[in-house]
Amino acid sequence: MRVYLDNAATTPLESEVIDAMTDALRFDFGNPSSIHAEGRRARASIENARKIVARHLGASVGEIYFTSCGTESNNMAIKCAVRDLGVRRIISSHIEHHCVLHSLQSIREHGGVEVDFVELDALSRVNFDHLENLLRAGADRKTMVSLMHANNEIGTLLDLERTSQLCRAHGVLFHTDTVQTVGYYPFDLSKLKLAFMSGSAHKFHGPKGVGFIYISNDNLIHPLLDGGSQERNMRAGTENIAGIVGLAKALDLAYQNLDSRRQKMQDLRDYFAKALMTEIPGIRFLGAPLPDGHYKVLSVSFPPKLKYDLLVMNLDIAGISASGGSACSSGAEVGSHVLLGIRADPDRPTVRFSFSHRNTPAELDLVINVLKTL
Ligand code: PLP
Repeated sequence: MRVYLDNAATTPLESEVIDAMTDALRFDFGNPSSIHAEGRRARASIENARKIVARHLGASVGEIYFTSCGTESNNMAIKCAVRDLGVRRIISSHIEHHCVLHSLQSIREHGGVEVDFVELDALSRVNFDHLENLLRAGADRKTMVSLMHANNEIGTLLDLERTSQLCRAHGVLFHTDTVQTVGYYPFDLSKLKLAFMSGSAHKFHGPKGVGFIYISNDNLIHPLLDGGSQERNMRAGTENIAGIVGLAKALDLAYQNLDSRRQKMQDLRDYFAKALMTEIPGIRFLGAPLPDGHYKVLSVSFPPKLKYDLLVMNLDIAGISASGGSACSSGAEVGSHVLLGIRADPDRPTVRFSFSHRNTPAELDLVINVLKTL
């Protein structure tokens, strides 16, 4: 019996998802580009999945493109916006996922694009005054804002509506990495007016190796991968049919059960936070204070006695899976850029516990007991 509390890293597949994928692997083996019956059957499965994704996100079917992962979707949004839409300046933050930060680094080195970083406030949220100043300052260059909806290490949430309104007021594009929030928060893209957003099936109990990108009809780009005409000429390569079917099934389940899953995970997080505060002296939480922040994530900063890798390793030995980090700035270890970005105390080990609707209070009691002995 293990206690899995690393659901921000990846989630186990729902059995309904495995069933849907098994059927797709067995029966939808045709090449979706073939015009014969097997090909048409596979194509129908993909188009059905696209309809499900579009319906849950309030997008039109023509705005959803399947990719291999969230990393690909974010690379595509950033690199293609620069190459195809004339973007010359990107405003982002130091706590984005590496697939965004490294894409920014690459376009800065090769594309002559300026990148500005918005300040974060003391609770690691975007400083909107600073964002507005940055938007005002660069009005002469075509600009895109790229900010994540929820941070994967500390769970800080961005107000998408406010950011989108601000971007529209300044006539700039808005890309958001929603890999940690798709399937956990409702979206209505017909109202939100984003340019691009990304999703990844394995974060919401679907399979690995499949994701999607939303590209608004106003911002059509060219493909990142050159090749065949799959995904309406937007993403070459024979489609991962079973993966796409699994993604749609997992998303459908996530939105059908959104309220009950959210309530359960929120309760688990609050229960765990309260127990930690009572049982372990010197505990702190990183990111926005409870109950703000993504209900899936609790980032716990421990007193500076143990090193984080020992803490995570000892939890693992006790049957508990979580992930850790530190802001270590010594250069001896590779620290977490997010913890560095929010100026977390480098001496205090941090463990990210991330929940799913499958966890129970009894599991959390066990974790508390183990932490007490450590
Ligand atoms: N963006 C965020 C916020 C993530 O947490 C992750 C995965 O950890 C990614 C992007 C990358 O997604 P994928 O694993 O599908 O490439």
